[in-house]
Amino acid sequence: MGLLSLGTPLAWDDAKQYADHVRAHGVTQFLNIWDRLKDRCGDELLWGDEIEYMVVSFDDEGKNARLSLRQTEILAKLNAITDDIASDRSDPASVPTFHPEYGRFMLESTPGSPYTGSLTDLLSVESDMRYRRRLARKYLKDNEIPFTLTSFPRLGVPGIFTEPHYDPANAVSSRSLFLPEEITNPHARFPTLTANIRRRRGSKVVINLPLFIDRNTPRPFVDPTIPWQRDIYPEDPEAKRGAALIDHIYMDAMGFGMGCSCLQITFQSCNVSEARRLYDALVPIAPLMLALTAASPLWRGYIADVDCRWDVISASVDDRTEEERGLKPLKENRFRIPKSRYGSVSLYISEHWTNRPEYNDIYAPYDQAIFGRLCDHGIDDQLAKHISHLFIRDPIVIFSETIEQDDATSNDHFENIQSTNWQTIRFKPPPVNSPIGWRVEFRSMEVQMTDFENAAFSVFVVLLSRAILSFNLNLYMPISKVDENMVRAQKRDAVRSQKFFFRKDVFPLGGWSSASSSCSSCSSPVGETTDGPPKKEKKLRNCYPSAPRPQNGYLHVPVEDEYEEMTMEEIMFGKCNSFPGLFSLVYEYLDSLDISDDERERLDGYLDLVKRRTNGSLKTAATWIRDFVRTHPTYKFDSVVNQEINYDLMVAVDQIERGVRQAPDFMPLKL
Ligand code: ADP
Ligand code: MG
Ligand code: MG
Ligand code: MG
Ligand code: MG
Ligand code: MG
Repeated sequence: MGLLSLGTPLAWDDAKQYADHVRAHGVTQFLNIWDRLKDRCGDELLWGDEIEYMVVSFDDEGKNARLSLRQTEILAKLNAITDDIASDRSDPASVPTFHPEYGRFMLESTPGSPYTGSLTDLLSVESDMRYRRRLARKYLKDNEIPFTLTSFPRLGVPGIFTEPHYDPANAVSSRSLFLPEEITNPHARFPTLTANIRRRRGSKVVINLPLFIDRNTPRPFVDPTIPWQRDIYPEDPEAKRGAALIDHIYMDAMGFGMGCSCLQITFQSCNVSEARRLYDALVPIAPLMLALTAASPLWRGYIADVDCRWDVISASVDDRTEEERGLKPLKENRFRIPKSRYGSVSLYISEHWTNRPEYNDIYAPYDQAIFGRLCDHGIDDQLAKHISHLFIRDPIVIFSETIEQDDATSNDHFENIQSTNWQTIRFKPPPVNSPIGWRVEFRSMEVQMTDFENAAFSVFVVLLSRAILSFNLNLYMPISKVDENMVRAQKRDAVRSQKFFFRKDVFPLGGWSSASSSCSSCSSPVGETTDGPPKKEKKLRNCYPSAPRPQNGYLHVPVEDEYEEMTMEEIMFGKCNSFPGLFSLVYEYLDSLDISDDERERLDGYLDLVKRRTNGSLKTAATWIRDFVRTHPTYKFDSVVNQEINYDLMVAVDQIERGVRQAPDFMPLKL
């Protein structure tokens, strides 16, 4: 989350009257940034992760693990501590920062300042993550522990799942049957987001995850833990009127989704066109990394038949009206909108010649007037479509104090729309008055239970991003196929059970081509082009010239022949000459670096984890968690995650994280 401005949030009926105002000024703000910074070039690689935690409070006597709702106190304490550490350091920017998140049991941490392209930084990610966790841990109560779990297994069960306990009867913002008001960060922004999404939609949000049917699961499964007859809020009957599906885990509030944790990586690009190229290249990578990091098989006290959070969050903030969802003819609303505002990317945005128009093959409505305004301003078609597609959404939270803004010095209205379009990849323009450049955020990964894993997946994505740029990889395929991969990625044990669409030939010019110099307009370090072996690079570079369109005509094959279905192992380890696999590309890239044996060995340790998750010699987090539940002595093979299983699971996860418990089917053995 960015900075939380303070003020008086408007309820939906008031807020919606300012929607056009926010959009119009948001576009002006974007154009102001564009005019100032479109030619900015030469930014070095800076990158950083975001890790989200859930604070769990243990009741050892009652064998219960509950979510601690002390976010406000914990953050105040952590911020005082980090300020204190910073004041003692010569380099205060190296002190990590902690931020609020949606759940009142959540924390987010980021490194104090972004990492650079140096290998030292790349190899310090794990220790930075560990330092952050140690800090968080140290200043909690004795019975509290910060966990990096994607979903909390017993969020929303009947009985006690928070400390302190609250009754869901008071859920005025969400009207949830399961989650109390106090589950949500008390800052006005969050209850307002929750309530306005519900009000705009015209009903509570609806989340149904297929239940994992075990041998004693009653069939048909009609969930006995849903208070079917509750009658407090007008929305209460929605569950029995069809919102809650048979054989599914039904959830009805934003907190079920935005209460999940994830792992995000943001890259600064050399310039805007490189950012757009990287954005596009990461679009097809997002579902793959979702499948490999799958970590959330347990929901509201049940085992689900899916392994990932993505669709839960998507549905949990789906503010589309019935008209927009296509259930009624359009009258009040302007668009039929196929996806929730939390969803996979719908449009590629690069102007590179490898981006064929045919790849944008799904219906992605965009605001014609805004599109026209952007085009009239000189913005190209792709970027204008991207922005005007984001801007079909209404601003959900508007503070009365910040309706009038100076568009030359503020980007608040732009960010209002941008930051509530939660997509797999985010294209982040530079903020106003800041040294930060054009950035791309990779957002699909589930957070892993240990920092070793979080570092490993971060390092993999960083190296892959460099391989993509340095070898000019072409990973394009139709967005509809990427969306199909998103569906498959969330299925149970997707890494092993599914095939994924992927591009067959990733080399645009028909072979390996390694860029040896930077773009002409850019002052980034330039690799030498000498005869003899190319000089090895000391840092991860940010700028590589993109493959030029071949002069004497380049024959495109039909789009349908460019991709095929592959197993995850084929995608990662290769299939044929034109597709050597993502790992070969990463290794080839590593070979271009000036790197010591020791550094290489440590990087290999991270890459090996990703490899072993790919080939199945180690379980994904989701599979490990599912198996833990199903082999627990009190599990009745009825799909239920009882209080004791949850407690024992939390204890086990903490022990694995601290390295005092081995889980050789899940983590490499530490000798
Ligand atoms: P948000 O929640 O809006 O996605 P955060 O501020 O929480 O953003 O996290 C942004 C991440 O980007 C952090 O890891 C931070 O270190 C990193 N970062 C900061 N500045 C830059 C930069 N110039 N380029 C790339 N990454 C950056
Ligand atoms: Mg966050
Ligand atoms: Mg953040
Ligand atoms: Mg954020
Ligand atoms: Mg403690
Ligand atoms: Mg982020």
